[in-house]
Amino acid sequence: MTDFDWDNYSLETQAIRAGHDRTHEDEHSMPIFTTSSYVFKTAKEAALRFTGKEPGNIYSRFTNPTVDVFQKRLALMEKGERCLAFSSGMAAIMAVGMGLLKSGDHVVSSRSVFGNTVLMFQNYFGKFGVETDFVNLTDPAAWEAAIRPNTRFLFLETPSNPLIEIADIQVLADIAHKQGCLLIVDNVFCTPVLQKPLELGADIIVHSATKYIDGQGRCVGGAVIASDEIIENSIYPYLRTGGATMSPFNAWVFLSGLETLAIRMKAHCDNAFELAKWLEQQAGVAQVHYPGLVSHAQHELAKRQQNQFGGVVSFELAGGRDHAWKLIDATKMVSITANLGDVKTTITHPATTTHGRLSSEVRAQVGIKDSLVRISVGLENIEDIKTDLLIGL
Ligand SMILES: *Cc1c(COP(=O)(O)O)cnc(C)c1O
Repeated sequence: MTDFDWDNYSLETQAIRAGHDRTHEDEHSMPIFTTSSYVFKTAKEAALRFTGKEPGNIYSRFTNPTVDVFQKRLALMEKGERCLAFSSGMAAIMAVGMGLLKSGDHVVSSRSVFGNTVLMFQNYFGKFGVETDFVNLTDPAAWEAAIRPNTRFLFLETPSNPLIEIADIQVLADIAHKQGCLLIVDNVFCTPVLQKPLELGADIIVHSATKYIDGQGRCVGGAVIASDEIIENSIYPYLRTGGATMSPFNAWVFLSGLETLAIRMKAHCDNAFELAKWLEQQAGVAQVHYPGLVSHAQHELAKRQQNQFGGVVSFELAGGRDHAWKLIDATKMVSITANLGDVKTTITHPATTTHGRLSSEVRAQVGIKDSLVRISVGLENIEDIKTDLLIGL
């Protein structure tokens, strides 16, 4: 299957077959290569591999056949030239920073990004002389105004967590490129099944494979997808030296995750849309945040930019924190956990968990109220999910 041109196949087919060149054992399913090093035929071959003049495996910190198949497959699905896998989503974001930034550089980030991403920019890149400004995700003028001559990249998640706001990737890519910066998109919430940021002009995608790519809450992993030039010159050298490598076992789990990603995403979206419409009808629910609803501020943009509206719904209750906690505690089936993208429905109270480390002023600025509840809608029967929520409503 080596000479297949997988570019011409659809995402669903790539997800199942691309990247795996069968070994001399003629295996049908991708094997797990648990080896830390590889054997060279001669000293000369070893030397050529180490300098990169001859392709081939060297050492599993940066070359492993199972991890390589995962990388090739995800790169094809995202329509990127190259992908590198990492030990977690945060390790992938760390790698982008370490690979691209130097002391004195500046970053503009959406205010509504994953909590640890904010801490990475502020506490760690900040410690080495990189300044970050945080702006409102949905306000292109604010992005443009925040860019300085030393800005290296813009960073965002769309849809955002937990308010499911949508940014116009194309508009922000144009703003970034006009000023000579890169646009980085965290595509965890949509996956390539729902949205392809590189086709919309983004330069780099980061992933937490822990979420929908695994899909069953088993392993932690991450990835960076970009042009061959960016990966080769900025990200690969850092991975090789920094060593936040994805294990072959995790890559193998994520490969089987990719095989079912398209049908799972469709089912997640169908269930989430149904739940959002139902929540809107419930007394005691003040507001529902879901881009499929006409009431959503970026409903038209979401329709244009995404294939479907995603698997995460959040909503505000009429009461405050007590009401939110009561609803969460009253559930019998759904899991009280901050993870998302699982076949199991999960429920969380962002203000006191995922976003609890932000100050109350910042939470207010971002719009995360004490009455907000977030649900990552799983693949159980939708009627059972409604029944479980109805207890507390
Ligand atoms: C979970 C998550 C991350 C971090 O990924 P880990 O695999 O947990 O390190 C980054 N971005 C988003 C949007 C996430 O949901």
